[in-house]
Formats: sequence, structure tokens, C-alpha cells
Amino acid sequence: MEETSLSFDSRYWPFKKYTEIYNRSLQDPERFWAEEARKLDWFKTWDTVLDWQPPFARWFVGGELNASYQCVDRHVKTWRRSKVAIYWEGEPGDSQVLSYSTLYRWVNKFASVLQKLGVGKGDTVALYLPMIPELPIFMLACARIGAVHTVVFSGFSAQALADRINDTQAKILVTADAGFRRGKFVQLKNISDEAARLSPSIESVIVARRGNMTPEMKPGRDYWLHDLLDKADAHVSPVPVESTHPLYILYTSGTTGKPKGIVHNTGGYLVFNNSVYKWVFDIKEESVYWCTADVGWVTGHSSIVYGPLCHGAAIVLYEGAPDYPTVDRWWDIIEKYGVSIFYTSPTAIRMLMRYGEDKVKRHDLSTLELLGSVGEAINPEAWLWYYKVIGGERCPIVDTWWQTETGGTMISPAPGIECAPLKPGSATFPLPGVNADIVDDSGKSVPPGQKGYLVIKTPWPGMLAGIHGDPVRYKETYWSKFPGMFYTGDYAIKDKDGYFWLLGRADEVLKIAGHRIGTIEIEDAVVSHQSVVEAAVASKPDPVKGESVVVFATLKQGEVPSPELKDGIKRHIRSTLGPVVTPDEIYFVAKLPKTRSGKIMRRVLKAVASESQIGDLTTLEDEASVDEVKKAYEQLKKEV
Ligand code: ATP
Ligand code: MG
Repeated sequence: MEETSLSFDSRYWPFKKYTEIYNRSLQDPERFWAEEARKLDWFKTWDTVLDWQPPFARWFVGGELNASYQCVDRHVKTWRRSKVAIYWEGEPGDSQVLSYSTLYRWVNKFASVLQKLGVGKGDTVALYLPMIPELPIFMLACARIGAVHTVVFSGFSAQALADRINDTQAKILVTADAGFRRGKFVQLKNISDEAARLSPSIESVIVARRGNMTPEMKPGRDYWLHDLLDKADAHVSPVPVESTHPLYILYTSGTTGKPKGIVHNTGGYLVFNNSVYKWVFDIKEESVYWCTADVGWVTGHSSIVYGPLCHGAAIVLYEGAPDYPTVDRWWDIIEKYGVSIFYTSPTAIRMLMRYGEDKVKRHDLSTLELLGSVGEAINPEAWLWYYKVIGGERCPIVDTWWQTETGGTMISPAPGIECAPLKPGSATFPLPGVNADIVDDSGKSVPPGQKGYLVIKTPWPGMLAGIHGDPVRYKETYWSKFPGMFYTGDYAIKDKDGYFWLLGRADEVLKIAGHRIGTIEIEDAVVSHQSVVEAAVASKPDPVKGESVVVFATLKQGEVPSPELKDGIKRHIRSTLGPVVTPDEIYFVAKLPKTRSGKIMRRVLKAVASESQIGDLTTLEDEASVDEVKKAYEQLKKEV
């Protein structure tokens, strides 16, 4: 935990405005959230703000609304009809600009396409699409007719896709003939065929054209999107749905185990995201906003589609890899579209750091006003690089902590209200209405400076409605560790100023000679060594200390692994954190195992280091098949 002080305006301290709103939100949450809910357009006002039958919360009960109406129709009734909704940048450099009126037209037509294939309210549609405009358009088209979407990241295998289809019982699968990945085509239709073969619920497959491929089309089941659009109606009225009607089902990243199908309901989710998007990003009419996440993750749902579009924001959507065809592709895109708000992940920042500052300096990034980070704790090293090199020391960084389950950001600086003086590596404070705390094993609040479990003590509108089809797992996972509190599974600490610092996954906390230490604490120390770019820490049973520390590290370009370097890193950790946590083993690797959403899968390393079962690997990031990945780990095991 580094407390580098930056030259931020101290006028803001002690955040009078934030404190006033935050306190008010917790004193009377229902009144607070009712006020926030009135910022949306409802077809029918709710009767009850919150029906809380622990652990099930129903928000704005009796109210009726429509998510596609919020995101599109509302804007086309104003001057925003000619405002840019989506700047789309394809990987090979092709592009499209969609105004809100164009988006409106397409959402209507896509909704008609779905209706003509028999999709109605409550049906589930699986979307297995690359990052092309068709993806958000289909999400909104589903919402328009009350259908539930389940987006599956287009890098997943046929089996992973089929698992999600079977779990949700989706009746339509939407895919593309192909998608670009680093200049090559991935044959998405072929993968979809394989998945459809394993998924009896699928009645029709819609295929969008991206790659000029000629895949086999099964008569009576498969349809080209452009053919269906030719016959589609121009208008489909948005179906008013109950606030508690499910908007989507989305699977978690699988960092800690088998992914969970998280259900989000329409009203609470939209109210929450409409508010937090404004608080976190301080969105302005003229902002150009770019979130680099894939729409297949919750960040993509809330922070590319529903949050920004609720506000009528202009968003950038980019199809490809950050470093393709050149390592400065992202900086080029920021310059090209004049991006003012840029939101990405620590993993990406660390990767781009590796390529050096020169690649950034070639570009004019002066339009940037605000930077954001999400997905993992951002280590102070990466934070400072992001702040200085990308943000030119003028843009605040919002480090946003949240989960698929929370629906939207929970802990983050809130420039839309009043930005806290930042501390690199801290997500600062909970947003209004978020009753976050840190507790010990017995569920008691811990004092500042003491580590514990991050919990949320009262329901909030973005809270998941449940795990699809598994109320028992829902209760067990989130509500049984500390009765009456939502258990996040993350380990954290509040410092003396009340700032929250995330320290890693609670079940990956190391217990060394009686000390508890979060993986992030050690990783931050490793990464602050000049030769290291990225690190993951795992533990291994140790007869004396209980657990011993095993470090896996990737080195900066040009650095060569050597026993001296290992010793240097060990000495560095010892001097930063003390002798107890000195690692027993350090392994240099070219790549750390990560989920497809870019999170380090420490459990894989832990399993490798302690020679136990690796567990579910379906969300592991790698172009190669899962089998190949397993083989690679067997090899690593031998080296270990
Ligand atoms: P699974 O629940 O299947 O193991 P997952 O937790 O990785 O997968 P997500 O919901 O995508 O799936 O990730 C949420 C988690 O990401 C959080 O619980 C936290 O551990 C981590 N996280 C997200 N943002 C931050 C952040 N700003 N700082 C620290 N950790 C973060
Ligand atoms: Mg999780």
C-alpha cells in the first residue's frame, strides 16, 4: 500500500458534498433510490421501492419500463437523434459511425427479426458475436421485446458456449460467419454449429456477416441476418416489462471456479447503472467515451451498453486487440476519435507499459480528461504510469471496484459528485447507496488498518437477482458466510483516512507464520522491482510456516532471467514487506494464466505449486485448446 501523494486540489477535502450525499443515501435508502429512479422514464411508476425478503431483493416493484426505450427512444425524441451513439472501429481499420437515430432504426429492425422467429417476452437469446455494432444492437433488440439476452464472449469454445446455452435454455443463437483476431479469421459459425449440436433448446441460428465466409447454412435453422432484415418491420413498440423482469443472464469470469449465471433484473439494474455511470465518469454531453472491455463481460454490459447509452453518450467500440497491427493501436484510436474518457484494465495497462513510452508519445492524447481502471487491483506502478504517460498528469483515475454480481460500480472515486484526492492503488470510497464494510471472521467491522472481508450490508438496486436456476448456490455463495450481509469474496483493508484498498480474493489470502497477507500486497511489492512487469503470487503448504510464498513473474522486455535477478527480487520483497513473506520460489514465465477477461487465475498457479487439482479451466485465456493449455501446465509443474 503505497501512499504517494499527488498534487490534487485539496479544496475538495473533506468531501463535504460526497459525504452529505453518501450519508443521506444510507439513512433512507428507499427514498434515495426512488429519487434516482425518477431520472429514468417509466411507463408505470412502482408501488414499492424495495421488497426485501432476504436474501432476495425486488426493486421498484409494480413499476414498468423498457431498457431499449431508455437507451434509444428517449434520445431520438430530442436533438440527440443526430448525435453519435457509436463510433465503431474494426480491427482491419474499417469503421462505422452510428447516430442515435440510426441505432434506433436498427434496434427496431433487429427486434422485428427476433419477433418473426418467434421470440417473445421471457425467451432467452444467446449472443455469440465479435465486437461489432450488431452485438449491442441485438442486446437492445432483445430488451425491446422483453427477451432475456445472454452474451457469450466470442473467444469461448463450442463447449463453453453450449454450457451457457443449455443452462439458460436459449432458443435462438446469434453469431457471425467469422470474427477478426489479430488479423486472422475465427470461424464463429463453425464453432456455433458445434455448440448448437450440443444444445437441444436452439431453434434458430442467426448469422451476421463479418468475414465474407460461406459457411454451411442448415435449412430451416440457419438464417443470414441481412436476409431477415430485408423482411423485417421498421417499427416494433418497446414492450413495457415489470421492473423485476430479467434483462440478462451473464456468467462470471470463472477466476475462482466454475462460472455462475448471474441474473440481473431490468429496473434496479438500470436505475443503479444510470446513477453510477454519472457519478464515476462525470459524463458530459460532449464526452467521447471508450471502454475497452469486451461486451461479453459485465463491464461491457454496464459500461459500454446500458450505462453510457442511458445517458445518450457517444461511445467508441473497438473490435480488435490492443496491440494489433501495431502496439500503439489504442493510442491511435484515442487520437482518431478524440476520446475524453478512457476506461480499461490493469492487465492491459501493464501489457502496454511493456512496450515503452515512446509508442505513446507519438500520439496526441490531449483530449483525455478522465481515466478509469477495472477488473483487478491496479498496482501503484501501473497506476502511476497510466497517470503520467497516458493521462499527462492531468486526468484523475477512477479505480472502480465491482463484480458481475453487483451489476455496476460500487467503490470508486466519484468525480461526478466530488472526486476524492487519489491514492494510487486505492479504489477510494463506496458510492452513494453502497453500504460497504470490512469485517473479520465473526462478521464484526474491523477498525482502520486491519484486514478483512469486503461485504455489502444492505441491498442496492444493481444487486443480482440470483444465480440462474440455482437459488441454493446463490444463498450459499453470497449470504451464508456472514448472515444478512452480501459476501463479495474479496479481501480488503481501510486505511486511516477511510480509503478502501482491495487485497485480492479472500480464498487466496496467504497465512504465513500467523500473518495473513493478501496476494495483491505481495504482487505489488514484486511488481515494484524494476525488472518485473507482472506477477502472480500463490502459496504452497509449508510444514513450518503453514504456507510459503511462490511467485510467478513476467519480466520487462530485454530483461533476462537469472539466479541473481531472483535473489534481487527476494531482497526487494524482504525490504518492502519484511522477512516473513520472502518467497521460497520465484519462477519467470512468459505469460501468466489469465481468464479471458484478463484476470490472473492464481488458483491455477496454486494448484500447480501445491500439486492439487486445477479445476474448471473453461474461461482460461489462450488461443490454444484447453488440452494444450493443460499440457503447458503439466510442463510448468515439471519445472516447479
Ligand atoms: P468468478 O466469480 O467466476 O470467480 P470473477 O470474480 O473474476 O469470476 P468478475 O465478476 O468479472 O468475475 O470479477 C469481479 C472481481 O474482479 C471482483 O470480485 C474483484 O476480485 C476483481 N476486481 C474488479 N475490479 C477491481 C478493482 N478495481 N480492484 C480490485 N479488484 C477488482
Ligand atoms: Mg467473482
